[in-house]
Amino acid sequence: MLKGQLTKHNSRLGLRLAMLLLSLPGSAVLADWVGDARPLMGTEVSVSLWSDDATRGQEALEAVFEEAARIDRLMSTYKDDSEISRVNSEAATGPVVVGEELFQLIQRSLDISVLTLGAFDITYDSVGQHYDFRSRQRPDPATVESERENIDYRNVQLDKAAGSVMFLKEGVRINLGGIAKGYVVERGVDLLRQRDVQNAIVTAGGDSRLLGDRRGRPWMVGVRDPRNDGLVAISVPLTDEAISTSGDYERYFDEDGVRYHHIIKPSTGTPAGGVHSATVMGPDAVLTDALSTSVFVMGVDQGLRLIGTLPDYESIVIDAEGQVYYSDGLQQPSAEAPE
Ligand code: ADP
Ligand code: MG
Repeated sequence: MLKGQLTKHNSRLGLRLAMLLLSLPGSAVLADWVGDARPLMGTEVSVSLWSDDATRGQEALEAVFEEAARIDRLMSTYKDDSEISRVNSEAATGPVVVGEELFQLIQRSLDISVLTLGAFDITYDSVGQHYDFRSRQRPDPATVESERENIDYRNVQLDKAAGSVMFLKEGVRINLGGIAKGYVVERGVDLLRQRDVQNAIVTAGGDSRLLGDRRGRPWMVGVRDPRNDGLVAISVPLTDEAISTSGDYERYFDEDGVRYHHIIKPSTGTPAGGVHSATVMGPDAVLTDALSTSVFVMGVDQGLRLIGTLPDYESIVIDAEGQVYYSDGLQQPSAEAPE
């Protein structure tokens, strides 16, 4: 939708600029929005940026897509030869030395587990690996019961000096699906900034990082209506910020009235209930990504309480009744409210 609007708006603006530039001697450039969307990381990655020069703009786009593909090659558990797959197959038998980037993202994930009292836990994958949403496969209760024992971020030990990861227990697995897309959009925006781009939006699935504004206006980012495909429940104006939404409609199947989806509550080993979607906004997409998953797991009360302790971060939660809740920083002071 965003792309469509930009294109319509731009063709006119582009024409006017072209006429202006043609009349200026020596200028061969054309400022315009450039954008593209591609399937990557099991989702869609899209980039839209304002560039003074079509060729340089196109190169900047390519750089972001290449970066997303590079990070996916390191961090996808669906690729047998990724660094993280090597960790999953070898770290229970001894320390596995990994690159700085993976090390740091695992470190951040473990820190966020502490912050969220275990709601965010990359070891959820010991249970998570038994789901296949496309073929409607889920673990039976006995498998959930036994694999649940392997969910505990404290079983992941990092050695900073050696740059290694070790699992303290057989059966532990990690998966960065709840944080890697935030990292991709943050890295993407970093690359654009290095190329002097000043206005851009980089999106990977439910995670967006904005660079600057939309040339004089804020970016409008939609929070989907969790039960009406294609409808936007709330539009949020944002500038130079990140926004992530976790929903029970991204990867799921329904069976006997129960929705089996991809966000696992570590304490039970089953999909977290009570919430349809959790959105978090703030300066850092790595954190908004991990926190949207965390708030989803923690639920309305606990989740919003956590966000209230984090300066610069806000949240919108839609619960299982469709009720919308806002963190304190987003509340409008009500006229009737007693002082
Ligand atoms: P998406 O943008 O794909 O909806 P989310 O940010 O909502 O992603 O994260 C969901 C993903 O996080 C799941 O697909 C899974 O890979 C991972 N995940 C699921 N449960 C947890 C959890 N409790 N802690 C950390 N990661 C999780
Ligand atoms: Mg997330």
